[in-house]
Amino acid sequence: MLRDRKVSAREVATAFLDRAESTRELYGAYLHIDREWTLSQADAAQAKLDNGTAGPLTGVPVAIKDNISTAGQPTTCASKILDGYIPPYDATSMAKLKEAGLVAVGKTNLDEFAMGASNENSSAFPAKNPWDISRVPGGSSGGSAAAVAGRTAPVSLGSDTGGSIRQPAALCGIVGFKPTYGRVSRYGLVAFGSSLDQIGPMAHTVSDAALLAQAISGYDDRDATSLQMPSIDASRVQEGSIKGKRIAVPKELFAQGAEPGVLEAVHRAMDQLRAAGVEFVEVSVPEIELGVTTYYIIAPAEASSNLARFDGIRYGPRMEATGHVGTVAATRGQLFGHEVKARIMIGTYVLSAGYYDAFYLRAQQLRGKMAAHLDEVLQGCDAIIGPTSPVVAFPLGGLSQDPMAMKLVDYCTIPANMGGFPAISMPCGLSEGLPVGLQLMGRVTEDEALLQLAWQVEQALGPQAQPNLGLTQ
Ligand code: GLN
Repeated sequence: MLRDRKVSAREVATAFLDRAESTRELYGAYLHIDREWTLSQADAAQAKLDNGTAGPLTGVPVAIKDNISTAGQPTTCASKILDGYIPPYDATSMAKLKEAGLVAVGKTNLDEFAMGASNENSSAFPAKNPWDISRVPGGSSGGSAAAVAGRTAPVSLGSDTGGSIRQPAALCGIVGFKPTYGRVSRYGLVAFGSSLDQIGPMAHTVSDAALLAQAISGYDDRDATSLQMPSIDASRVQEGSIKGKRIAVPKELFAQGAEPGVLEAVHRAMDQLRAAGVEFVEVSVPEIELGVTTYYIIAPAEASSNLARFDGIRYGPRMEATGHVGTVAATRGQLFGHEVKARIMIGTYVLSAGYYDAFYLRAQQLRGKMAAHLDEVLQGCDAIIGPTSPVVAFPLGGLSQDPMAMKLVDYCTIPANMGGFPAISMPCGLSEGLPVGLQLMGRVTEDEALLQLAWQVEQALGPQAQPNLGLTQ
């Protein structure tokens, strides 16, 4: 409609802004909305539409996770320690969205510094699941998932360190894609676990996710881990058929306390795929069972180093106290939330002399073994399949007193981050009226092949249930 001049970019932006604002309390999806900022981007998009330089997503609204830097707009990571911080520059992914003519609707809620799986660690307020607002949307990109599922933006950006794009996508019944580590620049993404972090798209369909991935990916010399590869090519995603594909089924992904309703939905989807000609190959990757343990050594270790920069001097508010050390201690002590402090302490501990070899080094060795084993499986198959999350959306407050249960929610998603593998979650039916996510993991750097396979799976599974949002159309 934008390309055919049936609507203007400003009209589209206004419609989504209105919905984002009217559902602000209901979903808690947004931390910051600035209409002027959004409308000026809509005008820039309209100019591209008018002068013939528009791309496939020009004029399309997008919600941005609030750990992705936006020039002139708050970027707080849902932390009190970054309250009022306004970056002077755009993250590369954000700059690329502007270049492609997308229109940012606002900055979305998250668990503080992306540490969590329910959005309840936000220092502002929890985001809620549009399927049932008494339940969590997942996390840490819970605001970006709720924004899309609640139809306040057609697509959004999240970040994924151990599952933070895919798990909330699963719990909100949408598509979430974590590209191969290095395909999307991390420049301007506030670092959590630098060797694991990756920005990626959240959308209603695989093709929408692929177009957004195309827009944000590509080599960037400002990120030392950026891959020397072209942008992800979305042009051939909607091709081919699932018939004859070989997909590995590691038995370890189907265990460890998964809800029976989740396993049933995934098995039903696999039956549909088998009927459409997929060959499933049972495999065993025992290292998967140690993924959560390994992750909760490596991710906190990297976080403890990355978060050292938040000292009350360089960014955000300062708690004055006696002397430099006193000021830094007061600022960090009062302005970091509980989960963030716990992780900084664990990370500092596992990196200390005497403990480094016992914890950090062994975790790194295990990470290497896990990645190598998954890679070996993927060399003989088109993908690895399993549930995205062992549970459906749980009630607000349901797991927040049980840190171990909260961490096990990422059991199925962590392995992809360990080896930098691309992985995607897509809806595959309901359990007790709530969406279940199906995860596909692909070979490193073969994002296009994984997206194409996911599109084929989407075709084979057919239309998915939608939440009742009380909308008329
Ligand atoms: N839930 C995991 C954690 O708390 C993963 C978060 C993420 O991917 N950012 O660390």
